[in-house]
Amino acid sequence: MDRTQAKRIVDRYLRALRCALQLNDWQIDIVWGHIDDDRATGNWQIRGKCRVKPEYLRAQIELDDATFDTEADLLDVLRHEMFHIFHADLYLFKEQAFVQVSETAKEAMELAWQKGVESLVLHVERMMDCGLGMLPLAMAARASEYVRRRRDFEKTGAIRRPVKRSK
Ligand SMILES: [Zn+2]
Repeated sequence: MDRTQAKRIVDRYLRALRCALQLNDWQIDIVWGHIDDDRATGNWQIRGKCRVKPEYLRAQIELDDATFDTEADLLDVLRHEMFHIFHADLYLFKEQAFVQVSETAKEAMELAWQKGVESLVLHVERMMDCGLGMLPLAMAARASEYVRRRRDFEKTGAIRRPVKRSK
């Protein structure tokens, strides 16, 4: 998929997905490009990555547009990375804990950390896809409709805009 097409899809659905996942307080920036990672070996390529700054409610999602074939494919990875924001506060704990331990311990802890967070995200994906039948594209489309209707209601004054929490 070329980057222009990929960007168009993300522009169309990011706000809606953020709303559906109740991440409205978060600023989510998207970065495009090839993702280099030591863990990527053989045919396995990392397609997305999420970094968080929970203290500022900011996330940066990196996406490798060259690895996506379809819209559904891209939304699957985007939603996966957005699920990682759910455990953002635990990153603070991780950062603090890692400062206190040796390099050997850090390596073992990193492995356990990766396994733990990926298992959590996988479980949430399965819950959405199989338990609730909310595949990423359906979720994004439904959330887009909700956002559009909500905007219409806000214009008419039927509902109020949510009040932004101060940081
Ligand atoms: Zn992941």
